[in-house]
Amino acid sequence: MTLISTTPVRMERLRIVLRGAVQGVGFRPTVYRLADKMRVAGWVRNSAAGLEIEVEGTTEQTNDFLHNLKRERPPAAVITTEEVSRIAPTGAMWFEILPSDENVPRTAAVLPDLATCPACLRELLDSADPRFEYPFTNCTLCGPRYTIILDIPYDRRNTTMESFTLCPACRREYESVRNRRFHAQPNACPACGPRLWPIPEVDRTSTLSHAARALARGETVALKGVGGFQLLVDGRNSAAVQRLRERKHREEKPFALLMPNVACVRRYCVVNTMEEELLLSQAAPIVLLRPREDCELAPEVAKSSPYLGVMLPYSPLHHLLMRQYPFPIVATSGNRADEPIAIDNDEARKRLQDIADVFVLHNRPIARPCDDSVARVSGGRPQILRRARGYAPLPVTVPRECPPVLAVGGHLKNTIAVALGQQVFLSQHIGDLDTSESREAFKRAIEGLCRLYRFEPKSIACDLHPDYASTQWAMASGLPVVQIQHHHAHVAACAAENGIDTDYLGVAWDGTGLGLDGTIWGGEFFVVTQGRFERVAHLRPFRLPGGEAAIRECSRSAASLVWETRGADAAQRVAGAGIRALLERGINAPSSSSVGRLFDAVACLTGVSDQNRFEGQAAMSLERAIGSIRTKDSYVIENRDGIGDWRPLIEALLADKELYVDAALMSAKFHNALANWILGVAQATELQNVVLSGGVFQNVYLAERCQSLLEEEGFQVFTHHHVPANDGGLSLGQAVLAGEY
Ligand code: ZN
Ligand code: ZN
Ligand code: FE
Repeated sequence: MTLISTTPVRMERLRIVLRGAVQGVGFRPTVYRLADKMRVAGWVRNSAAGLEIEVEGTTEQTNDFLHNLKRERPPAAVITTEEVSRIAPTGAMWFEILPSDENVPRTAAVLPDLATCPACLRELLDSADPRFEYPFTNCTLCGPRYTIILDIPYDRRNTTMESFTLCPACRREYESVRNRRFHAQPNACPACGPRLWPIPEVDRTSTLSHAARALARGETVALKGVGGFQLLVDGRNSAAVQRLRERKHREEKPFALLMPNVACVRRYCVVNTMEEELLLSQAAPIVLLRPREDCELAPEVAKSSPYLGVMLPYSPLHHLLMRQYPFPIVATSGNRADEPIAIDNDEARKRLQDIADVFVLHNRPIARPCDDSVARVSGGRPQILRRARGYAPLPVTVPRECPPVLAVGGHLKNTIAVALGQQVFLSQHIGDLDTSESREAFKRAIEGLCRLYRFEPKSIACDLHPDYASTQWAMASGLPVVQIQHHHAHVAACAAENGIDTDYLGVAWDGTGLGLDGTIWGGEFFVVTQGRFERVAHLRPFRLPGGEAAIRECSRSAASLVWETRGADAAQRVAGAGIRALLERGINAPSSSSVGRLFDAVACLTGVSDQNRFEGQAAMSLERAIGSIRTKDSYVIENRDGIGDWRPLIEALLADKELYVDAALMSAKFHNALANWILGVAQATELQNVVLSGGVFQNVYLAERCQSLLEEEGFQVFTHHHVPANDGGLSLGQAVLAGEY
């Protein structure tokens, strides 16, 4: 075809800058192939800002290029901002991949670890492939990232793979732009990459079959995974699961399960399409699912939770082990009780020697611990409850610029965050800061995140509570400290991740957080305006006899409520004379407006649960008790002058109990009362946007009920999806509020 043009073809050059998780996901080869197809000249390179592209061609060609770039971006890429500008053409003739530039600010996002992709899995299982059964197979689209990176830019020399020299075959893949392992930093093969350690008494090739036989015998296997050690036992073997609980000193907190494939998950759980997608996503989190009635797992796996936490194999090592042992396996982090997860071979053998019978070790170092993430589907959308492997350290883009602040989070379920402009980079879940080991992990996470982003904080944001280990660290840091009220941080985190920049009604419900008046808050309604908050309503405070002890023993909160409704004798029948005395004298019985403790009390009074062996256990049991009941029946929390009075609720509940009303119905009526109370306060405040945050909103029944009630009345409801509703989200809220306090 010949076209005769009377005017010379106008050439155009575009400069495109993509920010976000754009490195290490196969973006440059994608751009290269696209440029080739569209016949545009120019270049692409990784820079510390992200991905930079310049393309030159006719207007039609460059438009085509832009259009196709939007459609064909690599699946793992997360683009947070995109800038396109027109610049002067240079007369370039070809397209090339330029070496990485290191001179611009280091805000390029580091990628999370990605589950094994289908192409790598095929190779792993193909006996004719050089990588057949090679447990460290990966490519540009999958494999470890955050857990191997030591510095940015993300190049092999800046990862824990640095000590493995690429063999000629791997190097060819690494250097060939048309290969799916082009610049795959952790690229490896049996000839040059990491390997499993032989177990002394068996030969190397059968390390995994040895582990499988151990599982079959009911033994515990410690497996060095992606972000740390995992402890594995057969999930169908009660004695084995119970033994692991005893050895790990973990009484009742549910264990997660690793299952070989979706078909297996369906045998044990009820799964919808979105949950399947979440299981199969590249983040491959633990997904909370409803177990089937006839579920044949050991009951010791998850006693009090309405859910089973299930994940699919996300590393080649998992895939290979599950080929040998295709059954549900308990997979829990390699630690004792609430210590941080072990990542180093020697450390693991020391710390886990009394727990594990068999060790599966390898020589690829783990740069930082990263637990399995926990997610679920709520209100038709995925929601993250523990943010770690697969998500960390992706930034959350917030509506306003933040000052260069380091936010150190709360005390339980700790995470930390650094703010760079409109991006807040959150650490992986660090855990409860009760032990010296976890406080060490907390300090290492701070050092690690600051080093990775060359971040020098000008101030520290922390909680108001003086006894939190994170607050104490902040106070000792020598930098200016901004203390942020716990529940304000909760709602600010939820508002920020939803991009809300206007006034809103923030509902912060959780177990415990220090209030401005020195009492324990946890049932709060705030009107939030430009970083300020006004406490417009809250739960009527009640005493917690015994203070901290009331968190473990639900009968203490229950007695307190009964004491105020039916008097001292009735309270004594609930929790004994000792508690009655504490209530009467008001000694060691701090006042609290916590909805979390209200849940505990109701769980106890309905006979559903009387203890919290882990955070939120009683509330979880109460949610579970609802079962399949659907009703609009409700108790009443009276809203008078901003005080939510629970006395009519407790009265009605005790009356129901005397009539032997089913616990399921009492639980549903209690949940409904809470949702109705929120609606009432929202109607009184007349703000369009309602933000729900705090650990209580991990309760799916309550969250969905609130959402539908409020939306029916024309409110906009915002809940957490990218960061946890629990204290794991506090660091984000602290970071965004730091500049406004
Ligand atoms: Zn792959
Ligand atoms: Zn190789
Ligand atoms: Fe909290």
